Amino acid sequence: MGSIIVLMGAQGAGKGTQAKMLAERSGLPIVATGDMLRAAAEEDTPLGRQIREVQTAGHLVSDSVLAEVVSRRTSLDDCSNGYILDGFPRTLTQARLLEEIAASQGHRICVIEISVPRELLFKRLTGRRTCSGCGATYNIYFKPSKEEGICDLDGKPLFIRSDDNEEAIAKRLALYDEMTLPLLDYYAQVGYLHRVDGDAPPEEVSERIAEIVSANEKRSAAER
Ligand code: AMP
Repeated sequence: MGSIIVLMGAQGAGKGTQAKMLAERSGLPIVATGDMLRAAAEEDTPLGRQIREVQTAGHLVSDSVLAEVVSRRTSLDDCSNGYILDGFPRTLTQARLLEEIAASQGHRICVIEISVPRELLFKRLTGRRTCSGCGATYNIYFKPSKEEGICDLDGKPLFIRSDDNEEAIAKRLALYDEMTLPLLDYYAQVGYLHRVDGDAPPEEVSERIAEIVSANEKRSAAER
């Protein structure tokens, strides 16, 4: 039995950064649905084109596509001791699906919300730049690269995600409020929810998350 660590929080809350830091500490793999769907959208197939349109507009990809993508990915061997979810679940239907997946895999769900004020989220998202080579992330307001538009690590050009434009960001944040906030209420009711303050240095946030994960593992071990 392992843990499924669900990192929740609006876009720009730092889920991706925290997922990487937690993966390094715990050895658990990251299952980031946004990245997986972006990769699928690169493919020149009807499904790829459909996902690309939905993502660029800032809408949500359908629950049935997510069900397929997440079930398939998390049944691979590297997920047998648990995994970290970034970007999933985003709807109540997906939350129920995750409970089915967790039950069939014998894992325990632990939900951690990274909470960040809205004005800060907007700057984090509009300023976000990603390296086209190594995937390193920068922010023109908070963590600029030394040379504008170029990665410090491998010298490759930085790009702006197609869904990080202001219109799509506003839509994604409104969607978050509409579809995903009710999920947090649900997880609070069933007792899975933990909350950390995301307006702190990433190392501090990571420390708090690691404490929650380790307390959760101790509880699971005690129940066995
Ligand atoms: P993210 O990188 O998590 O911000 O996701 C980028 C985009 O991928 C979202 O705006 C959605 O179009 C799509 N996406 C990622 N995860 C999900 C999900 N769990 N349900 C529906 N769509 C998703």
